[in-house]
Amino acid sequence: MQTANPISASASHQIAPDTGKVVLINPYELGRQPFGLAEPAAWLKHAGFDVICIDLSLQKLDACLPADAVLIALNVGMHTATRIAVEAIPRIRQRAPRAHLCVYGLYAPMNATLLKNLGVQTILGGECEPALLALAQKLAAGESAHQSEPSVYLRKIQFRLPDRSGLPALQRYAHLLLSDEAGAVSKRIVGFAEGSRGCKHLCRHCPVVPVYEGKFRIVPLDIVLGDIRQQAASGAEHVSFGDPDFFNGPTHAMKLVRALHDEFPQLSYDATIKIQHLLAHADLLPELKRTGCLFVTSAVESVDDEVLRLLDKNHSSADFDRVVGLMRAAKLALAPTFVAFTPWTTLPSYIALLQRLLDLRLVEAVPPIQLAIRLLIPAGSYLLRLPGFADRIGDFDAEMLGYPWRHSDARVDDLQAAAQTLVAQTAERPRRETFTRIWRLAHAALGLAAPAIADDGFGRPIPHLSEPWYCCAEPTSQQLQSF
Ligand code: SF4
Repeated sequence: MQTANPISASASHQIAPDTGKVVLINPYELGRQPFGLAEPAAWLKHAGFDVICIDLSLQKLDACLPADAVLIALNVGMHTATRIAVEAIPRIRQRAPRAHLCVYGLYAPMNATLLKNLGVQTILGGECEPALLALAQKLAAGESAHQSEPSVYLRKIQFRLPDRSGLPALQRYAHLLLSDEAGAVSKRIVGFAEGSRGCKHLCRHCPVVPVYEGKFRIVPLDIVLGDIRQQAASGAEHVSFGDPDFFNGPTHAMKLVRALHDEFPQLSYDATIKIQHLLAHADLLPELKRTGCLFVTSAVESVDDEVLRLLDKNHSSADFDRVVGLMRAAKLALAPTFVAFTPWTTLPSYIALLQRLLDLRLVEAVPPIQLAIRLLIPAGSYLLRLPGFADRIGDFDAEMLGYPWRHSDARVDDLQAAAQTLVAQTAERPRRETFTRIWRLAHAALGLAAPAIADDGFGRPIPHLSEPWYCCAEPTSQQLQSF
């Protein structure tokens, strides 16, 4: 993999608009209107390209893909998106055989070999908009665009106002669901913005790390606010910030939400912030609340201190409890996420995780898929740097886009498979009902009868998005075939 400056063509060079269509394809973005398409679309359109955006989570490939596309670029920001892209590429190649195929985004460089074998000619990662534009310009000029190895760009770029005009309407994407005291559910239309990309942390299991290697890049305030402004004009009533960690740059984040609230006092928002940052910046939590924050997603991952140490999370199990208290004091909802199944998970430690959610009254705050997530080990994962870890895993599996592993206790793997099947079958059921069934499964795996759960043991529902899936969950067969 090569870390480089953008390829030679000038980003400001204007081309005639009839030099061929560029198609940007988003396989999946957790039900959100993708920034990962809107930002490159702005760069390409500014340079005069005719750009078509296709969101495979809402649109059918065959109906939207022009056969005369010159460049087709797929955005793979997460595991599920990459799995869907791998399914889609042969059909894309068949329908537009002369198009140059590019895959860009977080998961592109780490899956370069597989993608190249599928006929992808260019692989881009990191801050890749200038390189994508340069590629389009080369193709438009009839120049060779041969790439020998994937490129990752980490140089600061000049962001443009994302161009969302070619994407499906916000109303078609995931909604925010809010429950009132009486249990009645209301909906809000959700916009999606990013205030930064990359991350300054090096959690061993995280897919951001092999690409950004501890760096993050700020999206300027005026660009983010402009993006929110245009989404508010399109009906957004809530903004979901997609930054890997909103408090990598807390000064920037707070300027952003204060400005957002000043201009749009009726807009609510959510963000993702790690436990370590929530503790370190506890004084900012009331200000998050004041400016319209409804909930914070936080990658807790485990309640086992040894697993947290192995994942290099920089927080302890007790820190999680402290943050639950701080968030409640600030009247902010916390949506914890987990890697429930790792090679170090045991049946008792899994039950301990479920018990902790009951003790903290957090069952209703956790989408059931979180209780079935199995540790993914993508190419380049920092987990491979753990002494002895490579001995516990199999050879890289191109189909699953990761290194397979088996637990030393087969009952743990069986429980994970059963939990995942159950969650896929009960997507429309109340969270507490699915939790109770997983609770019973986990105890049955140990040959125990599950203790009854009191009615008030689940906690209250919190605001959440209607898309229940998760970026590193294994996609369902329906997701893989939906386009
Ligand atoms: S898990 Fe979160 S905090 Fe850790 S490296 Fe990834 S994005 Fe950063």
